Amino acid sequence: MKSYVFPGEIEPEILAVAAGEIPYMRTADFSRRVKAMERSLLSLAGCRDGRVIIYTSSGTGAMDAVVTNYVAARGKALVVDGGSFGHRWADLCRYYDLPHAVMPVGFGADIDFTLLDSIVEREQPAVLLMQHHETSTGQKFDLHRVSSLCRRHGVSLVVDAISSFLADPFDMDSMGIDIAITSSQKGLNIQPGLAIVMISKNLEDFQWCRRGYYFDFVENLRNLTRGQTPYSPATMLFLQLEARLAQLEADGGAESAIRRTERHAAFFRRLCREYGWTIPAVTPSNAITGFFVGGDTVDLAAKVAARGFYIMPCATPGFFRVNHMGVQTEDDLRELAEAIHLSSTSEK
Ligand SMILES: *Cc1c(COP(=O)(O)O)cnc(C)c1O
Repeated sequence: MKSYVFPGEIEPEILAVAAGEIPYMRTADFSRRVKAMERSLLSLAGCRDGRVIIYTSSGTGAMDAVVTNYVAARGKALVVDGGSFGHRWADLCRYYDLPHAVMPVGFGADIDFTLLDSIVEREQPAVLLMQHHETSTGQKFDLHRVSSLCRRHGVSLVVDAISSFLADPFDMDSMGIDIAITSSQKGLNIQPGLAIVMISKNLEDFQWCRRGYYFDFVENLRNLTRGQTPYSPATMLFLQLEARLAQLEADGGAESAIRRTERHAAFFRRLCREYGWTIPAVTPSNAITGFFVGGDTVDLAAKVAARGFYIMPCATPGFFRVNHMGVQTEDDLRELAEAIHLSSTSEK
């Protein structure tokens, strides 16, 4: 099977790390290695002198942590809801009964900046919660524009960059982002299980709210100052992360990882045009291609799987997504497109 769902095909050397011997983590050696991972993540995210928390959880754990520790202390949130992940920010605010407003953005559409400006004027939020890339549609939002709007209104910007990190250019300091999150199974292209929060130096002295035990920023940051997590880390995933970060550094850092993903995306989108599949996203992320397939799309993902490829089906009929992160070649993508085409036009 070839995988075009997250995290995609993982490099064999990186996968092999997870099968090694499990080290004891309460050691000076493990602490040193965690500190090095933090430095490397901050450098990839363009977050000078910031802090990192690595949680053993899926990506949503980091969203939850941001809402309970930061939003709850900062004040009213405005959520940009361009799909199921934007929706999750709003769900979290609702779950914790925090004041928030929602700006819906249409399927694959861009943010209407005039509207956003007027909503910010009206709602006076303290913090804006959004995705860099709304993974459910493939749409990437313009963080520079959002950031300058936030600056103008004195709103703190929090970005879920889970599926854009290492797929699209991202720089916390120049984009004026106070908190960004990512997770292991998307751009980092390792197994699922780690959620990462990156906190700008701007928030160095911020008084975090303390209402979630496991995800508590104060406790996690205090422990991570010495390179330890308060609770058992997913040790082997930490080691995969370490190996992946070393490999990224050796391969030319974030820029070259982004270029690789961009090439995969551009190649596959040419094939989409050849087959007449349409891409709804106005400014698509490099991370995935979300596209409408014509013809018979009933059980299409299952039919494509029967031909040896996993792709992501969606709630929207006829809409499918292909991940471009991870190891893939142009030949792979050509075979994939052929399999989708045959599956959508075959009788059975
Ligand atoms: C994958 C993803 C998440 C987190 O999902 P988990 O299943 O909890 O890892 C959050 N936001 C975005 C934009 C994502 O793509």
